[in-house]
Amino acid sequence: MSQNTVAPTVGSGFSPNRVPGYDLLGWRPVRALVTWAGFPGTLQALMLVAFVLLALLGWGKFTPEGVNAKLYAKANLVNLAIWGLWWPAMIWLTVLVGRAWCMVCPLEWVSSRAESLGAKLGWRQAPLPTWLARGSLAIALFAALQMLVPAVQIHRVPHYTSMFLWAALALALVAGWLYRDRAFCRGFCPVALLLSAYGRGGMLAVRPAGGGAESQCRAPNARTCRSLLNPARLNSSQDCLVCGGCLKADPSGAMQLVVRTPFARADTREPMASWPLTLFVMIVSGFVTYELCGVWKAAEPVFAYVPDQVVQALSAGAAAGWVKGLWTIVVVPLALWLVLGLVGRGVGAGRSLGETWRKLALPIAVVVAAGHMAKALEKFTSWVGFLPYAWAEPAGVQTVLGMTAKSIPQPGAWLSLETLSAIALGLVATGTLLAFREARLADPMRGRRRAVPIALLGGFYLFLVFGWGGWL
Ligand code: SF4
Ligand code: SF4
Repeated sequence: MSQNTVAPTVGSGFSPNRVPGYDLLGWRPVRALVTWAGFPGTLQALMLVAFVLLALLGWGKFTPEGVNAKLYAKANLVNLAIWGLWWPAMIWLTVLVGRAWCMVCPLEWVSSRAESLGAKLGWRQAPLPTWLARGSLAIALFAALQMLVPAVQIHRVPHYTSMFLWAALALALVAGWLYRDRAFCRGFCPVALLLSAYGRGGMLAVRPAGGGAESQCRAPNARTCRSLLNPARLNSSQDCLVCGGCLKADPSGAMQLVVRTPFARADTREPMASWPLTLFVMIVSGFVTYELCGVWKAAEPVFAYVPDQVVQALSAGAAAGWVKGLWTIVVVPLALWLVLGLVGRGVGAGRSLGETWRKLALPIAVVVAAGHMAKALEKFTSWVGFLPYAWAEPAGVQTVLGMTAKSIPQPGAWLSLETLSAIALGLVATGTLLAFREARLADPMRGRRRAVPIALLGGFYLFLVFGWGGWL
């Protein structure tokens, strides 16, 4: 997604030292799995079966009359599986272990099969245009997806979720057919920027073994990587899908699949994020603010005050969701980042507002990811109890009617809000400290100047999650 993926020479600071961490390939079962011809395709194909089944199950299902939409979303298997279990788990998985989801992603499999078929049939596939490879379309698709949450409640209506799944599948097919070199992942996938921003510090990474020029010569070159990375010089996890292609092509042991400490010091940090990545962090910071306010009953009406007034003034009740969507992913992020940018500019973090935003984006992504993890945990623990009901009746209609009539008891959340608040405080505080470190590692001379805006956002999120426990 970054400019690194456009050219087949990713990474610059190849470390002559051995890569810190434990090489999982030294463990025979893992080596056997990774070098197996069916890896990761078989896992991806199994995921595709689940993906298609969910898309079929959700089609034509809307919230029944007279029931709470949120309750129905939990009772319906499609919404529960996608938005209540998979999405929160993916946020956690990405921050903790990097882009591990990409390893088993069914959309990559579909896109790659379309690409291979097109090539076999003689279709002349074009290289991905630079504007797409930079993430310009991916950021638009991500923004649209975030917009659909407040606007049409995509996360609560199975039919809309199903439409999203079919649209993603169709886009993967078309992108794979038209373009080469894993184009869907590099230019179209709506969650690629999230994975790239949140997954950089993950504990699982593919890296060259190190040991200097001799090892670099033995490591597979750029031709072995379908994402146009150069495995021999890989020093960041931002674009690597952990697909194992270069590990398979490496009989000499020059490549490793390492487990290391989170946010490994050995990784390269960009001093300044690309514009699409900066815009992604801005948008997602607004969305996470919306999500964190939604858990604290006192903060929810404060967040919704302005859009509610606008809807009233314009008598635009039917468009209320869209107004709230614009507020969440455009107005709030702009206001938030105007403050962060001006403060950062004031303390010398950048020479212009735009430069300050780009320098803040990657460290601040760590704070935003921590806030996102907090909300994901709250969602997962309050939805997961519905799984036995949704499994027994996937459509969820009888379940939700029974729960509304109180003939079926509603499962409680696994954790109380006080406990969640305490965990969330720990997550956001840790994310803020890690963000300070990221800023310093990205720019040892001037990175400390970014501390004030980072602390501002961290403090704001701490305030919100403190409110969850009813302590304010
Ligand atoms: S970038 Fe997107 S489509 Fe590609 S493997 Fe990752 S999640 Fe799947
Ligand atoms: S695992 Fe290797 S081949 Fe696969 S995306 Fe990463 S660098 Fe490329």
